[in-house]
Amino acid sequence: MSEAQTKESPTTEGAAAETFKFQAETRQVLHLMIHSLYSNREIFLRELVSNASDALDRLRFAAVKDDSVYEGDHDLRIEIEADEEAGTLTVRDNGIGMARDDVKENIGTIARSGTRAFLDRLSGDEKVDAHLIGQFGVGFYSSFIVADRVTVLTRRAGDPVSSGVRWESDGAGEYSLEPVERETHGTEVILHLKEDARDFLSAWTLRSLVSRYSDHIGFPIRMQEEDEDKGSVWQDVNKASALWTLPKSDISDEEYQSFYKYLTHDLDDAMCWAHNKVEGSQSYTTLLYIPGTAPMDLMLQRDERSGLRLYVKRVFIMDAAQQLLPHYLRFVRGVVDSDDLPLNVSRELLQENELSTKIRSAVIRRSLDLIARVAKDDPEKYQSFWGEFGAVIKEGIVEDFANRDRITPLLRFASTRGEGDQQIVDLAGYVERMPEGQEAIYYITAENYRAAAHSPHLEVFRKKGIEVLLMSDRVDEWMMAYFHEFEGKPFKSVAKGDIDLAALGKAEEQSGESEEAGSEAALDAALLERAKQALGERVSEVRSSQRLTDSASCVVLGDQEMALHLQRLLEQAGQEVPDSRPVLELNPSHALVHRLRDEGDEARFTDLALILFDQALLSEGASLEDPAEFVRRVNTLLT
Ligand code: ADP
Ligand code: MG
Repeated sequence: MSEAQTKESPTTEGAAAETFKFQAETRQVLHLMIHSLYSNREIFLRELVSNASDALDRLRFAAVKDDSVYEGDHDLRIEIEADEEAGTLTVRDNGIGMARDDVKENIGTIARSGTRAFLDRLSGDEKVDAHLIGQFGVGFYSSFIVADRVTVLTRRAGDPVSSGVRWESDGAGEYSLEPVERETHGTEVILHLKEDARDFLSAWTLRSLVSRYSDHIGFPIRMQEEDEDKGSVWQDVNKASALWTLPKSDISDEEYQSFYKYLTHDLDDAMCWAHNKVEGSQSYTTLLYIPGTAPMDLMLQRDERSGLRLYVKRVFIMDAAQQLLPHYLRFVRGVVDSDDLPLNVSRELLQENELSTKIRSAVIRRSLDLIARVAKDDPEKYQSFWGEFGAVIKEGIVEDFANRDRITPLLRFASTRGEGDQQIVDLAGYVERMPEGQEAIYYITAENYRAAAHSPHLEVFRKKGIEVLLMSDRVDEWMMAYFHEFEGKPFKSVAKGDIDLAALGKAEEQSGESEEAGSEAALDAALLERAKQALGERVSEVRSSQRLTDSASCVVLGDQEMALHLQRLLEQAGQEVPDSRPVLELNPSHALVHRLRDEGDEARFTDLALILFDQALLSEGASLEDPAEFVRRVNTLLT
């Protein structure tokens, strides 16, 4: 990546100041900040405080190895200072600070990886976009929502006084860098507020924002106050005790929610949380949240920054989602604070450490319990949870065999029972409703809900009043390959293999119902063989159907074969698809099939057989190899 750099002739600021251009992507982000996030502009303060807090966390972590980085100042703090006269608002920390190269890299020329990702996700909806700012590491630039000029003064802790840096930009296209002397380490961000953002100088406004967004970060946030005797004094404006260290009984729901927002940069409330302290031979605290809505990239990837923050004895160590959470719980957010892990714990160590393995299983258990509690106590809320995260939970069936018994009760499916309103059902309920004689749990997978609900494979099940689970998430077919039974009842796809519902039909036959599926004498072997000949390599077999009542034909796969919609998906992705030839089933009571049976002319017989086959594929949502041929055949038949 080339660094678009223009050295300019010395500016008025002195010979050492250099000017650099922002890269195009950074410029785009800046432009967006300035022009389209107006109504959420107070988020800038949350972002700057969050950066200051990160910097303090990092200083404390560096001090574990080398205490001298404190430079004798152990009072870690964030200061917010408003200057009415100058129209500036300053957010200052005595954290890790930045060296010149850090400044260039982090808030300077080169677009960070998050910048591109951020731009890709922009929706144009202000609220949604504001929500993305913290998630993609472009928080610093939100300063330009309220400021027409931003100055950053910083020095890396432990570096000499002469290695301070002054960064400044108006957010348009360039910034300047200049070495300065700086007595104190840490960073100071000075916002030269726009005329219409002057209300952010009000102490009252600032205090209420701090308590809304930053009350429970682990460091004091201080503002100056006039004291009758002592003049100006710094006073704490937040609670400054890491929320998870407090007893549950001292924490209000609002405080839990505001900490959640601080942690995740989410603008919406968390759905629920679990806060646990474990004491004993090993002591650790977990505070886990389930978000109310899924982040947009949930299905695609796991971002390191979205996950669990690991602390050891209150010292922030790292974002450790991958080490402490399985992939299928990647939406869980929160904090883990261990008293026993070593402060110098690395990612590698976390992976094999016995204690962290223990913490991991506790985190999994607690998360699943938390979700189960919502399922039990608030089905309506659970339905919305399931809509957001259900497809991800399903991965757990494959990924986490050890916890399968905790995961299965969480599963929900659409079903032929709740059709129309698309009510979801659970497996226990399904099994309870199974009539006498039904041995298997029936399901169908398809590309979408409608394709599943309208599949001809369901006809006989509908007719007999047997419930079928309608699955249309992409992971379903994959999950079902690993999911063989529930409470001793095997799962059976209605689109695969033989279906024998004879035993179940009996009750109704006795009650005098006629026109039973399969009640018509099965088609005779000679006809089936003739049809097979006509279709050639397209099918492995033609047989008389027990599944169909209304449709003339359907295709059926082997028990182990991949669903057609999945085969198509793989094909589209350019992947090799195992060669499978479906079975064609014909409905013995359908007029078209009778016509086939009675057709004497070989050519017309073949046309008709092909139409029945193509129809069956079409109703699976498949596309035909030769659609024009299909149309020709149908038209011949029609005229
Ligand atoms: P993020 O915080 O998500 O990484 P930001 O845009 O908020 O993204 O900040 C960009 C980077 O700038 C940070 O990752 C950090 O390296 C650096 N930075 C910002 N503010 C500070 C600060 N107060 N002290 C030290 N480094 C900072
Ligand atoms: Mg940030």
